[in-house]
Amino acid sequence: MHRDTDTPVATSLHQSVNYVQEFGTGEGLRYTRYGNSPNAEILQRRLAMLEGAEAALVLASGMGATACAMLALLRPGDHLLASSWTYGGVQRLFTEELTTMGVDVTLVDPSETRGWRRRLRKETRAIFLESPVNPTCRVLDLRPVSALTQGEGIALVVDSTFASPVNFRPLEHGADVVIASTTKFLNGHHDVLGGAVMGTAPYIEEVRQKMIVWGQAPDPFACWLLERGLKTLDVRVRRANENAMRLAEWCESHAGVSRVHYPGLPSHPDHEVARETLDGFGAMLAIELTGGGEAADRFLRRLRLVVHAPSLGGVDTLVSEPRYTSHAHMSAERRAAVGIPDGFLRFSVGIEDVDDLIADVEHALS
Ligand code: PLP
Repeated sequence: MHRDTDTPVATSLHQSVNYVQEFGTGEGLRYTRYGNSPNAEILQRRLAMLEGAEAALVLASGMGATACAMLALLRPGDHLLASSWTYGGVQRLFTEELTTMGVDVTLVDPSETRGWRRRLRKETRAIFLESPVNPTCRVLDLRPVSALTQGEGIALVVDSTFASPVNFRPLEHGADVVIASTTKFLNGHHDVLGGAVMGTAPYIEEVRQKMIVWGQAPDPFACWLLERGLKTLDVRVRRANENAMRLAEWCESHAGVSRVHYPGLPSHPDHEVARETLDGFGAMLAIELTGGGEAADRFLRRLRLVVHAPSLGGVDTLVSEPRYTSHAHMSAERRAAVGIPDGFLRFSVGIEDVDDLIADVEHALS
């Protein structure tokens, strides 16, 4: 393809919120809140291609994306089946907000045999699940769920934030809608808040209408940064996958670690599903320390490279303790019952030299 010599190689940032409008027509009206700023549009085309979707929409956050995606699907009187293994903010959105709008929500333990089918009602409009799951790194098999949703003519909505399209593309496994917090792997540099929804063009247009009135559009600069992050998505995620695998294997052989949760390990309960359906086992892993909560406190104090911080999916390795973050509202007993005992640490593995990461973890455990 021939390009003029004044064409910039780097994508230009168009920070303007409004654009010159033609006289005598409402066509072609551009305004950032409408989701049609030039930087949003470039990003939307790329995200749709990455997920294999007809269309994509970028929003101000992962929560904004989830809220608008569900508002576009559900009406008062509808019923939503949602996995009980989801990000806490999403669970609050469903159980505390959607319910006040007349949507009935049932939480389903996705490990229960025929759990989805048994709770299906004639008003059920959609199934929502997250995979891989935060923070236990469980991997759900979409194939039986999508057989059900397709048979019933209802929507399967998948939050695929933990995987990124490099490792998993839910639409290829029968999902109808993909949601991502682009704050995580898609941007990858801990410096942008954003979200995205991918699906059919008519559905994405409905989500866009919700985004416009609920005011959830992203700023052009956030879109510009995110588009830049996408350029390295593939190399970042592959490197982080490799690092996570090495770290998981190393941790599994250490006496101070009683359990490692990583889908790439044969010891993981969903290893077979992960092998069959994922293109990479991901950068998220968790460990349980033999010494429980006290050992976790000591471990975190002794780290020098790995950063103790919430969130995930960036180039720097982070560690977080669900008992003080996502699962702080539960008692220690309830946390243990859902597989998150004290001493459970979640890692979002970055792209550092893996030997440095292992040395840091080894020092912190010693
Ligand atoms: N979905 C998952 C799986 C998440 O981990 C998060 C945030 O941690 C969200 C959605 C919400 O994303 P955001 O923080 O960008 O609103």
